[in-house]
Amino acid sequence: MNLFNEARDVIAGGVNSPVRAFAAVGGDPVFFKSARGAWLETEDGRRLIDYVGSWGPMILGHCHPDVIDAVVQAAKNGLSFGAPCVLETQIARKIRELMPSLERIRMVSSGTEATMSAIRLARGHTGRDKIIKFEGCYHGHSDSLLIKAGSGALTLGIPSSPGVPAGLAENTITLSYNDAEAVRAAFAELAEQIACIIVEPIAGNMNMVPPVAGFLETLREECSKAGAILIFDEVMTGFRVAKGGAQALFGIQPDLTTLGKIIGGGMPAAAFGGRADIMSSIAPDGPVYQAGTLSGNPVAMAAGLATLEKIDEPGFYEALGARTRQLTDGLLSAAQDAGIPLTTENQGGLFGFVFSDDAPIRRFEQVAAANVDRFKAFFHGMLDAGVYLAPSAFEAGFVSAAHGDEEISTTLDAARKVLKRLS
Ligand SMILES: *Cc1c(COP(=O)(O)O)cnc(C)c1O
Repeated sequence: MNLFNEARDVIAGGVNSPVRAFAAVGGDPVFFKSARGAWLETEDGRRLIDYVGSWGPMILGHCHPDVIDAVVQAAKNGLSFGAPCVLETQIARKIRELMPSLERIRMVSSGTEATMSAIRLARGHTGRDKIIKFEGCYHGHSDSLLIKAGSGALTLGIPSSPGVPAGLAENTITLSYNDAEAVRAAFAELAEQIACIIVEPIAGNMNMVPPVAGFLETLREECSKAGAILIFDEVMTGFRVAKGGAQALFGIQPDLTTLGKIIGGGMPAAAFGGRADIMSSIAPDGPVYQAGTLSGNPVAMAAGLATLEKIDEPGFYEALGARTRQLTDGLLSAAQDAGIPLTTENQGGLFGFVFSDDAPIRRFEQVAAANVDRFKAFFHGMLDAGVYLAPSAFEAGFVSAAHGDEEISTTLDAARKVLKRLS
């Protein structure tokens, strides 16, 4: 019995999100049946240490008892009302307490919905059409965001997927991440047409690439000068890199923020929010339309709220950050011992590693130029040794509060063996 073949017979491509298919690393995807703490259990009974964490939400580890209790309690009270419930107010308050730039919040069900809605709001509020985004950042799969750069920075963009109308591409400007000069040039030419910039304040969808000094500051400055809206897409970094997200870490206040992943604690929940004057343009207060049958779902709100209560405990991020550093320091020294060039990044519970000697990695082209074959071999070596990494060289890694000394040292023992074999 091959589970993937059975899935392929009835599910398009055998998966419900493409990265799960292992296309970037080869081989068949692993099917999981359960998870607890830092560990996953596969359908064929193997136990793996998890560094994907459902792509970010599982910051407390799997099946944290407080989260499970909150979910069970909420479920017993009804799965969905399609009408207001107090849990929605409670989680919105908690988010605002942790991230004060979100003066008003709207809950949605996925990160894609959050970014799509934030962009519509930015356009509706400013009355402008053009948006700026950066190559290598991922903001979900709505049409306006599946556009890549054309031949020159300010030339027309090109849809990066069939099915995205070419007509949309002229309104999406794609610049190079960490290139402040390109942002200034774009504003110098198009300022009064630009509705917003959307950016991952630490890029986590091209491996992990932090902003260079001055980059985010330039975005803030140019948006303020031009009356454009600065959107931090913190779907990944929110409550992952620091308690108040990347905006707290760097001390920069965006106008709007998108959240997802952790705020659902493993259930489908996401949000966008920000300045009250901008958020008042959303229906029903304002004319910009946005809605959702399951938005603010009580079970998802309960899971998210329980998760946010835990991350707010004293010392949470100090411990998480130290654990993540222990991992990347160990990987680095294992690679050095094996004579293999490796660069790493870490912040809070987020990490990256790239098989490259081009440190520090600050541009998309540097990630793209890394040794992908070595990554594939490392990925499969680690999987065989009981460690589940993201199945692509372009993804970041996730450490949870449930990763302890035992998990990290087992992981590093495996890495030393695998890297030695690859050298
Ligand atoms: C995951 C992610 C999204 C999309 O969220 P979904 O819930 O998968 O739609 C958007 N932006 C960033 C930065 C992400 O990491």
